Order: sequence, then C-alpha cells, then structure tokens
Amino acid sequence: MLGLMQNQPLLISSLIEFAERHHGDAEIVSRRVEGDLHRYTYKDVAYRSRQVARALDGLKLAFSDRVATLAWNGYRHLELYYGVSGSGRVLHTINPRLHPDQIGWIANHAEDQVLCFDLSFLPLVQAVHGKCTTIKHYIALCDADKLPADSGIPNLQSYESWIGAQASDYAWPQFDENTASSMCYTSGTTGHPKAALYSHRSTLLHAYAAALPDVMCLSARDSILPVVPMFHVNAWGIPYSAALTGAKLVFPGPAMDGKSVYELIEAEKVTYAAGVPTVWQMMLGHMKPAGLKFSTLRRTVIGGSACPPAMIAAFNDDYGVEVLHAWGMTEMSPLGTLCTLKNKHLAMPKDEQMKIRLKQGRAIYGVDMKIVGEDGREIAWDGKAYGDLHVKGPWIIAEYFKGEGGNPLVDGWFPTGDVATIDPDGYMQITDRSKDVIKSGGEWISSIDIENIAVAHPAVAMAACIGVKHPKWDERPILAVVKKPGAEVTREELIKFYEGKTAKWQIPDDVVFVDAIPLGATGKMLKTRLREMLKDYKLPGV
Ligand code: AMP
Repeated sequence: MLGLMQNQPLLISSLIEFAERHHGDAEIVSRRVEGDLHRYTYKDVAYRSRQVARALDGLKLAFSDRVATLAWNGYRHLELYYGVSGSGRVLHTINPRLHPDQIGWIANHAEDQVLCFDLSFLPLVQAVHGKCTTIKHYIALCDADKLPADSGIPNLQSYESWIGAQASDYAWPQFDENTASSMCYTSGTTGHPKAALYSHRSTLLHAYAAALPDVMCLSARDSILPVVPMFHVNAWGIPYSAALTGAKLVFPGPAMDGKSVYELIEAEKVTYAAGVPTVWQMMLGHMKPAGLKFSTLRRTVIGGSACPPAMIAAFNDDYGVEVLHAWGMTEMSPLGTLCTLKNKHLAMPKDEQMKIRLKQGRAIYGVDMKIVGEDGREIAWDGKAYGDLHVKGPWIIAEYFKGEGGNPLVDGWFPTGDVATIDPDGYMQITDRSKDVIKSGGEWISSIDIENIAVAHPAVAMAACIGVKHPKWDERPILAVVKKPGAEVTREELIKFYEGKTAKWQIPDDVVFVDAIPLGATGKMLKTRLREMLKDYKLPGV
C-alpha cells in the first residue's frame, strides 16, 4: 500500500519560490566587482532568476544543457544558481583558480554551452575562450555600459541587457527530482579532474540537513556570510539553505582579505560565517594587532582542511565565537560531518571539550560512515584505531560524470581517500589523506597533528608536514614552515616546541623554512608540489 501524500518532486525552483513568498523582504547584500555594495531581497532574486530562465530559453538551450560560471560570491551568481537549475539546465561552477588549460579542458568535457563571468575574469576568459569548443554564448556579469569594447570574445553580451530584455513571468517547469542540477569538478592532483553531478533531490536533501541545529543551525534570524566560494561545491550549500530558512545573505565578492571580511561582518551584522582556515587566519591576523572585536558574529563553520586548535581557541576565548569544525568533499555535496557537542559533554571541563571540538565531528543524518582496514573489514569505533573512511548516502556520488574512473564505489560505499578514527560517541577525526600519511618504523604519523602543533607557535604562519625517505625508519617527518612577517624562530626552537606535545618519535627530524607553501585551487596545501619542491632535500646525518 502506498502512502496517500502529495508527491511533489524536490526541485531547486521551489526554494526560491518559498523564499519569495515567505521571506520576500529578507536582504541579499553583495560586494560587487566594481567595489560598491549592492542590496536587494529574495523577491528580487526570484524575479531576476525567472528572467534568467527566459533568457536561456531565448538562447534555445535544451533541457540539461550546461551553463558555466566563472564568478565570485554575489547576487548575479545567485540568480544563475536558481535560473539555470530551476529551468532544468545544469549549472557548472568553474573554479577560476585552476590553470587556464584545465579550465579549457573541463569546459569542453562538460560541453558547456554558455559561460557567464565576472569582469575580473576577463583576462582569463580571453586566454581560454579559443580552447573552448562548445561554448556558443559569453555573458559578462555587468551592466550594459560596463561591457568592454574590443574584448576579442565572440558574441559577448552584458548580463543586464541579456536578462533585462526578458519578462519576469515564468512557470518553473516540473520534472523528475533526480534530474541533474549542477556540477563541480574535483581538483584532483593527478590525471584529469572528474565531476560530481548533483541532482535536484540531492541538493534539496542536503539543504534541509545543512540547516539542522546540530549541523549549520541556520534560521530566519541569521545574517550569513559565505566566504567559502560559490564556485566550489555550491558554497557548502549555503545559497540553498539560506533560501530554505529565509536567512539574510551577505556576499563578499572578490574582497576576501582579512580587513574587508571583518568590515563586512560588522557592517551587515553577520551572525554566521563559513570558510576555510586560511581565510580566518587572515582575518584574525588583521583583528589582533588592531584590538578589534566582533559585535554580532556568534558562530563560524570552518572546514575544507583541518582547523588548527589554536584557531578554535582564539575564536572561542578571545572573540566569543563558536567554531563548528566541518568535514566534507566535492563528492558529498559537500557536508559529511560537523562537530557539535552532545548533552553529556556540557558538564566536562573546557580542555576536555576542546579535545572533542578538534575532531571533524559526527555524521549528519543522511550520511553513513565507517572506517575499514587494508583487508576491507570494518574497524572498531574506539577513537584510536584508524582506517580508510568510507561513506554512503543520498547526497554522495554514485559515479562521476560520464562514468570517468569507472565505478568509484566499494560494496556501495564511497572511499573518501581520507584516513580517520571514530570514537565510541561517533565523532570522526581525520588523521590524513591516505596519500599523505607518514609511515615511520611501521607506525603511522598524522601530518595534521604535527602541523597543528607548529601553527600554535606564535612565529609560524603556515606549516606542512611531509614524509621523506629514511634508510632505517622507511620515512621520517619533516616540517616546511612559513614564518609570520617580521617574526623569528629557529629550527632548534621549533623542534624544542614539540617536546611534551607529542610522542618523541613523531617529532619532525628537520624544519625547512620556505617563502610559501603551494596551495591548490581550493586553498588546500598541495603536498605533491611541496614534495617536488623538496625533492633534492636530504635528511641531516643520513
Ligand atoms: P574537496 O573535494 O576539494 O572539497 O576536498 C575534500 C577533502 O578535503 C577531504 O577529502 C579531506 O581530505 C579534506 N578536508 C575537508 N574538510 C576537512 C577537515 N575539516 N579536516 C581535514 N581535512 C578536511
């Protein structure tokens, strides 16, 4: 017997329809490429998204055709999120930090038909458009009078004249909720990137889950600043969850330096912010010397790479802001776990609570996880034994776009490539990417643990730990360090700093000072590149 409830497909268009009807006057504030602040409401987003949908019809784009963006976090990008997916096309957000050759490759692989870009990416589009064989229409996200003359880009139109010519009445089409809605290529370090292809259903389920109290805890009373980019995994789903809850949205545009982000938080009474650790490091670096405080910010979700304990402590103790440590991946839409305490932890002393807060957190309903050993068997949840982390759930990929890489699942589970422990309360802690684990004398050393200690040193801006070959121990850890401007620390002082903080055999054998640690397109440390940089390095005394 089937239930007798209405069978409405879960479609992205329903989110913006809801926000327009029930939170029509909630604000969307965007720092524009031009430098000024733009402000309007969900009612306007809905209106202009319908114009986008009509404009795509006008280009004769078919159902499921791909529309690419090269854009910062801003209101026009948000309109494309809803107009493109809502009308049944697929939004392909491209990471502008990728190499131009890679951008050309993925645009062709995705068979993008349209490319919408912020004017700050004009030189990039000029460099790649010759390589893009499928793109027929180029749209600059600007007013008609800002459209550059002689850009050399064929059929270039301004976004405002493109959508401005359209009526705003449009009935969002109804279709199967499993229809593709958006796509994002993973920034793989080897081979060509592969794309996760999200569906309307996976996106809506993820949006519901992300808003839950023990996940991002979003509400109509929040003012949310996603510093995490809309060009990478849909800004952790915030553009959808914000519409679902009616929260105010504040977009930083291209201004993501510490000073600009801090000023925007204060000016727009932001209560909630989301970003990777490097962004917050820049902001705290700006605030501390100037003695600045937050007046409204209450919570910040930090993920994308491990959040150093020193950062959690600084936010909490110096600024009264709760850090929610999160873990996920492109293949997971992206949220997998979030770290919030359980009732029984509330009475614990602060330092005990801190040990829990450092972990990547508990699985969200909708994500199941397990750790497995080399033999594929599940490993106990004792918080000590580590293994390969596998996940499954309705917003985790079943396969990559165009079947690239074959079947990525093992017995129905997606192997994440991360190595983790899970404690008896279900808190997962990443110890490493499987390829970054350091094996010394048969024991594993967590490079994340070693890096976390280093960045707690006041003179260290950034640190990366890698293993180097050793004749006796197989591998030994060394630390690459970037010093804070004007700060001094010696190799010996840093090695001494480890004493008492970790087991003796885990202390790095050497410290190498570098000007910068190579970062990938999503701001994560590129250890493959670092290993190449240090390929002629020899351990002292070996
Ligand atoms: P991406 O698909 O580019 O978002 O990268 C996903 C990978 O980033 C994960 O598989 C992890 O290796 C890493 N990652 C994400 N969040 C965290 C976190 N909180 N702590 C440690 N690593 C993380």
